[in-house]
Amino acid sequence: MILDVLGFDIGGSKISLFLSESNGKIHKRMKIRTPIFSSPEEMVELIGTMTDNVESETGRVPDAISVVIAGAVDARKGIIRSSPNLFGGMEIEFSRMLEERIGKIVYIENDATATAISEKIFGNGKVANNFIYLTLSTGIGGGVFINNRIYRGSTGMAGEFGHMVIDPLGPQCGCGRRGCFEIMAGGKGTLRIMEAMNAHSKSLYLRKISPEKLEARHIFDGAEEGDKECIRVINKVVDNMAVGVANLVNIFDPDAIMIGGGLSNSTELVIDGIAERLPSELKTMKRNVEIFKTNQITVELSPLAVVLYEKEVPSFNYERIIREMREKISEKTK
Ligand SMILES: [Zn+2]
Repeated sequence: MILDVLGFDIGGSKISLFLSESNGKIHKRMKIRTPIFSSPEEMVELIGTMTDNVESETGRVPDAISVVIAGAVDARKGIIRSSPNLFGGMEIEFSRMLEERIGKIVYIENDATATAISEKIFGNGKVANNFIYLTLSTGIGGGVFINNRIYRGSTGMAGEFGHMVIDPLGPQCGCGRRGCFEIMAGGKGTLRIMEAMNAHSKSLYLRKISPEKLEARHIFDGAEEGDKECIRVINKVVDNMAVGVANLVNIFDPDAIMIGGGLSNSTELVIDGIAERLPSELKTMKRNVEIFKTNQITVELSPLAVVLYEKEVPSFNYERIIREMREKISEKTK
């Protein structure tokens, strides 16, 4: 049976919508800027309105809604534990709130975990039993597949690779630790290394961009165009990326590593750069690990993939629905 799934990818800067069939065919794409939400209720209302609009525009009534979100999510319980880039508050019963608004089953998952699931169903993970998805963006995150199953951890927070320490004497990270992967590589790390190397004033390429507008991608662009200072910064960033990836290889012994996120668009510098450095970083522990760049379509299909995976390996909504049924039954028998 072919299902229609309406997927939302909610990030700090944009909200993407995809109406897709379970065979991976996308019928509608839409993108809006993420508004400033003062409460989770506002986000529920926005998604509810967007759902209503898609239904009336396309005449297709989705069978399920799937929301992937930048934040700590407990998919099994349908709860957003925290999402500092979207709204404050903790332990928000998001699936239940949205189900009440739209009267359909709602799936929710962390965005990086969802992309890992999409790699398994639609991407290069099809043939890998064990693999890591790593997203290199402003921050760093990821997901883990072990024996063909996503590993979510006890609270749904597994795969926070960005907070793996790679230099205990390094700079302080937003999480409170020192020398985390994401402050040593990724977008934040790139800007910090540029500052430490004083590269902004020395680089002919970067000098054209005012400091307040400067983003990590400018430094990658500069390196791609051959600017020596940018290359110096990016070499250091990719060295750090390779340290993090080597740690993941030593912990998980995966068949493959899929790399996505904005920084991976500099494929030659980042993907090839990590692959080149990995054997020497692993030293005597070196082994064959394939490194792939995650395709954009794999990211777009991630909300759908969450629903398809759940059909195969029921876990989260199932657990929550059973709990709610029990609560209702116990209320009635009081
Ligand atoms: Zn950290």
